[in-house]
Amino acid sequence: MLEKKEERSGKRLIIGLSGGLIVLFGALASLFSVYYSSREAQLTRLGEQLKTAREEIDVLKEENEELLVQADIAEAMNPADELDLVGEIPFEVDLEDWKYLLVNEVNPLPGDFEPKLAKTRNGQQVDRRIKASLERMIDDAAKEGLDLLICSSYRDYEKQDRLMDESIEKYLRQGMDYREAFLETKEQIALTGASEHHTGLAVDIVGRNHQSLDRAQADTEEAKWLSEHAHEYGFILRYPEDKEEITMISFESWHYRYVGAEAAAFMKEHNLCLEEFLTLAARQQEQKEAEEVFA
Ligand SMILES: [Zn+2]
Repeated sequence: MLEKKEERSGKRLIIGLSGGLIVLFGALASLFSVYYSSREAQLTRLGEQLKTAREEIDVLKEENEELLVQADIAEAMNPADELDLVGEIPFEVDLEDWKYLLVNEVNPLPGDFEPKLAKTRNGQQVDRRIKASLERMIDDAAKEGLDLLICSSYRDYEKQDRLMDESIEKYLRQGMDYREAFLETKEQIALTGASEHHTGLAVDIVGRNHQSLDRAQADTEEAKWLSEHAHEYGFILRYPEDKEEITMISFESWHYRYVGAEAAAFMKEHNLCLEEFLTLAARQQEQKEAEEVFA
């Protein structure tokens, strides 16, 4: 009887224990499943975020490439960026100085502009401040057997109007309409007010043996001598062949402009046209002023 009692209580204990274990395992299993499913959801979320990030990166890369291409184009179009490679101008540049007067289609002279002129030996009119340098240049060339001839110098507004009218008429006779004739003229002759010849600081110089203003002029001994030595007298070749995009004027091997010996030498050394030189000078001045403010 007693043995049976013990047997029964032993059985109850086993049943109780097994039940407890089942509950415990059940709880553990559900805990694991909660853990894993939330872990899985987390991983899925992370995966999605990663995918979105990768897509965003691809878009950014594409945009960046586009920007780089645009920057390349802008750099090719904007010559000023190359100016960063040119060193500091080693002398004071007063941008208001008469020597640096910039005249072109976007910077025309005022209607009442009147230079103080002097006549050269062959009767050409130039700004009186450049006459001595100009004649010294012609004399030095003569010592080397070269005959430099000034064929055009100061021009007033009426003369420029006349030149334009004559050119337009010539093209009209060739069968162009007025618009075509005007545009063709504008390629070769600056608009009145926009010609450097109004300043008295520019001259067209040719060899006496070849007086036409054409491509062959560049091959004359006189043109070669000028391109090598003019800067020593303060003159620059104003419309070089490789600067047409900037000057907006076709190459003219005969058109020289006085800017002073310092600027002329600097521009020749660094292959700068007047527009570039003035841009560089203005930029360096701005930098200097900014440095002074922050100093
Ligand atoms: Zn000229």
